[in-house]
Amino acid sequence: MLGERVVGGKKCSEVLGLLSRYLDGDLDADEHRWVVTHVEGCAACASFGSRFAEAIARLREEAAREGLPEGVGARLKARLRSAQSG
Ligand SMILES: [Zn+2]
Repeated sequence: MLGERVVGGKKCSEVLGLLSRYLDGDLDADEHRWVVTHVEGCAACASFGSRFAEAIARLREEAAREGLPEGVGARLKARLRSAQSG
């Protein structure tokens, strides 16, 4: 990632790697604090994070509406995750 910053003691790439688990409510207290602190102090991650959250929320709505099996959402999420690094 270009222009990677360290905010809240964590690099952008580390925080972005936690985002999908953050949205799942799956982080421990330390990890949660890293994400929140970093995103508050890093405009790039704040912007990416909100887009990412919207995309996940939309996928979940679609999955719920269409009755897609759980695994489909997980695969889409994995694709989003790999898009972060590219
Ligand atoms: Zn950042």
